[in-house]
Amino acid sequence: MCHSTFDEPGAFDEPAPTPGPCTTAIHGGLAPDPETGALVTPLVQSTTYVNEAVGLSKGHAYSRVSNPTVSALEAQLGAIEDAPPAVCFVTGLAAETALFLALLRQGDHAVLGDAIYGGTVRLFRQVLSGLGVESTFVDSSDPENVRHALRPNTRLVFIESPANPTMKLTDIAAVARIARGAGVPLAVDNTFLTPVIQRPLDLGADVCVYSTTKHIEGHSTAIGGSVVSRDEALLERVRFIRKCTGGIQAAFQAWLTVRGVKTLPLRLRQHSENALKVARALRANPHVAAVNYPGLDDFPQRELAERQHRGGLHGGLLSFEVAGGTEAAVRVLNGVRLCSLVEHLGSVETLITHPVTMTHADVPREQRLAVGITDGLIRLSVGLEEPEDVIADLERAIAEAHRGVPGGCAAREEESEVTPCVIR
Ligand SMILES: *Cc1c(COP(=O)(O)O)cnc(C)c1O
Repeated sequence: MCHSTFDEPGAFDEPAPTPGPCTTAIHGGLAPDPETGALVTPLVQSTTYVNEAVGLSKGHAYSRVSNPTVSALEAQLGAIEDAPPAVCFVTGLAAETALFLALLRQGDHAVLGDAIYGGTVRLFRQVLSGLGVESTFVDSSDPENVRHALRPNTRLVFIESPANPTMKLTDIAAVARIARGAGVPLAVDNTFLTPVIQRPLDLGADVCVYSTTKHIEGHSTAIGGSVVSRDEALLERVRFIRKCTGGIQAAFQAWLTVRGVKTLPLRLRQHSENALKVARALRANPHVAAVNYPGLDDFPQRELAERQHRGGLHGGLLSFEVAGGTEAAVRVLNGVRLCSLVEHLGSVETLITHPVTMTHADVPREQRLAVGITDGLIRLSVGLEEPEDVIADLERAIAEAHRGVPGGCAAREEESEVTPCVIR
């Protein structure tokens, strides 16, 4: 807040306006360094902190427990979600792992959405199951499915909306009412939309998890994760697990992420506008069989999208299916030049992914197909290039795929000695 010299009582009886999202992202939780006056959060690489006397410290002891740069990021991420400081981790999956270890033990049960991030599915099916944690995956787009899956030993409901990569939505407020009624905490993976567009804690969720690697850092330069909640006891437990298991965010990655968050609201607005243009162009393309984007008029859950997403924005993620199945899809993926073929999303670059062979390769085929992840589905994370350039790249690759041109990849291999492009 700006303090004026005219501070006699009564001079300003207007209440201060609540700062807007850009103001909060740039200033919330952050302050100039009291030691040096540095405007920007200093990068503190020290592993350890000197005690002034026995039992007298400045709040940090050892960087596995806390670090001043990481603390700044935590305060900033809490501020943008009207929550206490977040707990930050070295990756999104480290954040999820700590949350699950904080809430679940042997004999406990979790109910999860069936179209959540592939790495979360793998963590439950291949790691936590071995520790005696049971899990049930349900189509959470019908909240009643969550209710029916609850058991006396259920200790967690975990959902993601929009679903990755089908974009199917879950009504977070409806699931929160069901979970609360049963006394079970609800966690939401809010990586796709971030608190700029979707605020699960305001809709009744108990905790949010993020891969800050994606939109929050936003420039593909720092891996990280966070847990955000208004439940101080839960945050304390997550911080304790982090200390015990050692998954804290690294200082330099935290420093980069602090910088990224400052433009998060701006970027999300532009990502959303660009994605809508790309989605409409794909929708009008005769060789595209389907486009999944919550901002399109014919999106099946349009009413929920309008209610749950803020500011008329729907994020940068969409998925689509080209006519001609897997073969045509692979040709499109190999044919794009501006879009980067990567296993990533939420960055300034437009990123294209083949879920079946990339992000969801470890998800069993039947489970994949049951949730609509078909062999020919393509996921697009629309970046901040001019959308017309992205559209031109996709339209050319789609036209070539339709004509049976093998794609830019094969063509480029003939020209040079580059390593062959293989989708893994
Ligand atoms: C990437 C991602 C994760 C995992 O985060 P990492 O930082 O890669 O460990 C979790 N959830 C969603 C939705 C993601 O996109």
